[in-house]
Amino acid sequence: MSITRRVTYKLYPNRQQDAKLHYWRRLHASLYNAGVYNRKTQYQRLGHSVNYLEQQNSLPAFKEVWPEYKELGSHALQATLKRVDFAFTRFFKGLGGYPKFKASRRYSGWTYPCGAGWQVDTNGKNGHLTISNLGKMQMRGKARTWGKPTTCTILFRNGCWYASLTVQCQPQRQTSTGSIGIDLGCKEAITLSTGEKISKPDFLKVGQHKVKAASKSLRRKRSPNRNKRVKASRRWKKERLKVSKLQRKVTRQREDWLHKTTSNIVSSNSLIAGEQLNIKGMTSKAKKGKRNKQKAGLNRLILEVGFGIIGGFLEYKAAEAGGFYLESPTRTLKPTQRCAKCWELTPKTLSDRVHICSNPNCQHTEDRDVNAAQVNEIWARGQELSSLDAEPLSSTDCVDHEATRGEEASETPTQRKRVVSSSLVHYL
Ligand SMILES: [Zn+2]
Repeated sequence: MSITRRVTYKLYPNRQQDAKLHYWRRLHASLYNAGVYNRKTQYQRLGHSVNYLEQQNSLPAFKEVWPEYKELGSHALQATLKRVDFAFTRFFKGLGGYPKFKASRRYSGWTYPCGAGWQVDTNGKNGHLTISNLGKMQMRGKARTWGKPTTCTILFRNGCWYASLTVQCQPQRQTSTGSIGIDLGCKEAITLSTGEKISKPDFLKVGQHKVKAASKSLRRKRSPNRNKRVKASRRWKKERLKVSKLQRKVTRQREDWLHKTTSNIVSSNSLIAGEQLNIKGMTSKAKKGKRNKQKAGLNRLILEVGFGIIGGFLEYKAAEAGGFYLESPTRTLKPTQRCAKCWELTPKTLSDRVHICSNPNCQHTEDRDVNAAQVNEIWARGQELSSLDAEPLSSTDCVDHEATRGEEASETPTQRKRVVSSSLVHYL
């Protein structure tokens, strides 16, 4: 069974190619806007909803009027119209606002949805990308596992061009028989059930400081104001580029760290136990007038560590290695309060850093986060055992698991707030 993976390479076009890429990006942006305009006006004037097929069929006539679009490749043009369709589908489903016109300087790029129009010459590491009517470009990057490339998306980001390829491949990963529980926190980013603590890397803080300083410098430059017809100063433009470069660097560093840490965990454990997180709820704004700054700082901490990403990484990496990543139902299991020795609940406040069991016969003492990670691990082992008994979903834990998921979908806002506060209690 092969899986789709995405690999991004940096492109090195020559001067003519660079100019052409920019020109093509503008053309694709105009096509996108034309697609949005077409749907909008047709509906407003004639009450007619234009669908994707109608727009696709009008492409040949469109290219007769605008012959410069001919060299872009018909499949790439169709893919851009698909983006229009996607934006409208999202809007109709109530997932997004009405599609907006996009400025060409903000337009990210275009896609070759099949093998037509491009060719890649690489074995996964570096190589060359050839695009029809544009030529051969050097590309740099490395795929963890290489396979059959299927689609190619050209991106312009921070003054550089990138090719993002989807590849059909069969990723392999080594693992061993161990099992481990993890607990995510703000003080120590990841706590393992073995007692090991992985703290948040320092470079995140350093990077944030640099971003902050550059942002401040940006605020002092003349920003554009369309209403007052003020153009941005050259220094403002320069500084803005600097800010976005710094931000991107921090993002890349964090991602690298997350990849390394999760790969490490997977390499020695085939059963990994985390917990269900309600990131959106956890990072929601504080209620009006209620410790706004503190909550904002907490949200930043949660997002800085990348709580949401860790689970996703562990899940797919464990699957690649043939292992399992399970998430315990935080609300019913309460890993922070439960004792890893006797399974008794001990209520705690945010400042209680040590778990001392309230059960007089147990009095088990352990670091709070380590205890929570151990509880997760024990829960996951129970899950594995019950699945080995070939009783899918018959054990109470499994049913609970499903029930919490169902509840979460149908819960009212007030209930959600309660969940938020309880999960926050858990994370500090
Ligand atoms: Zn106990």
